[in-house]
Amino acid sequence: VKKLQAPRGTLDVLPQDARRRLDIIAMAGVVLGRAGYEPIETPVFEDTQVFARGVGESTDIVQKEMFTFEDKAGRSLTLRPEATAGICRAYIEHGMHKLPQPVKVWYAGPFFRHEAPQAGRFRQFTQIDAEAIGSDDPSLDAELILLHAEIIEHAGAGPARLRLSSLGSRETRAEYLEELKQYLRAREDELSQEVRERIDQNPLRAFDADHSGTQAVMRDAPLLLDRLAADDTAHFAEVRALLDAEGVEYEIDPTLVRGLDYYTRTVWEFESDRLGAQAALGGGGRYDGLIEELGGPPTPGVGFAAGIERMLLAAGEQPSVPDARVFVAVAKPNAARHAFGLARRLRSAGMRVELEQAGRSLKGQLRQADRIGAQATVIFGDAIEVKDMQSGEQREAADADHVLELVREAAGS
Ligand code: AMP
Repeated sequence: VKKLQAPRGTLDVLPQDARRRLDIIAMAGVVLGRAGYEPIETPVFEDTQVFARGVGESTDIVQKEMFTFEDKAGRSLTLRPEATAGICRAYIEHGMHKLPQPVKVWYAGPFFRHEAPQAGRFRQFTQIDAEAIGSDDPSLDAELILLHAEIIEHAGAGPARLRLSSLGSRETRAEYLEELKQYLRAREDELSQEVRERIDQNPLRAFDADHSGTQAVMRDAPLLLDRLAADDTAHFAEVRALLDAEGVEYEIDPTLVRGLDYYTRTVWEFESDRLGAQAALGGGGRYDGLIEELGGPPTPGVGFAAGIERMLLAAGEQPSVPDARVFVAVAKPNAARHAFGLARRLRSAGMRVELEQAGRSLKGQLRQADRIGAQATVIFGDAIEVKDMQSGEQREAADADHVLELVREAAGS
């Protein structure tokens, strides 16, 4: 029989990690909620067009990385590779432009990209995503950058480097890319073969080349930041002024490009030195043309995605803090039903209670109580006794209320 395994590039999240993930998501909900972001949920799969039109036909994501399939009626569906396009589709579909703007939403869940798996890169991964749609106010860009930083810090994944840039409008970017291609073509002889072959598809890649000849050429290459229209430059200056006033450190990186076509104006990425080749903890940016691209009214928006797996990798191992725990042991077979009822009663009093449910000897049960870090063990035999696991003191309880009292004392709560 073939051994069954999780599909390539996916991971099973076992209880200890699963708990940390839920804690991070809950924390993000609090941080984002304080700034007015409300939860939203959209489907895990969408009409393929949502991503083809939204993320962009020419991107690596759409060309190579989508899990696309047909349903039984022959419709092309795709497991979402990112969150923004689906949320914008929902914004349009539900006429959310009629609500007071901006509409602020956040979400956490699984995303899918058919990439070559490696450390920190999976085919199913989890993101926390926040979006502010319906206003181009630069304070939203700054607010989301600050919230993103706060989530990384509270997740224990800091310190993180913030790289920041502005892409201007789509038109400016298109004109700039033409200029850059011409610049590269005029110096083809000095470029690496790889860069030369990709001048048309991805001229920006030349900025990241290791090849010394290419690097020399790129030192004098035109930069998009120097080509921005006046209103885009002013918008970016305001975003930076707000970040400066809050004492946020960042590096302006004019070569920062994000792997999605919809970005305009502000873009950012947080990176960690504690990660390897896949150093990005998360990224975001403004997408003022996306909703129109998807068939809605012209509507600006800005948002970010924070990778949970990457944040956990950067945070490293962290000791788990056990909650106050109670173990209910059964010293006599006919006490099992009473023990069951008492466990339920202690749980409804808000305690975290485990019960003997594996047929262990009393000695084995006490060992199990130690293993789960129990602060109190209730032992059901001829009498009901409560053992304070720290002091070792054991006292007899008169009735169920007394058990509760003794357990509370032992648990120090
Ligand atoms: P992106 O929209 O591609 O910038 O992705 C945003 C964030 O999601 C990244 O910075 C990563 O933290 C995370 N991420 C993206 N793709 C993957 C992947 N294949 N595996 C794990 N995390 C990912």
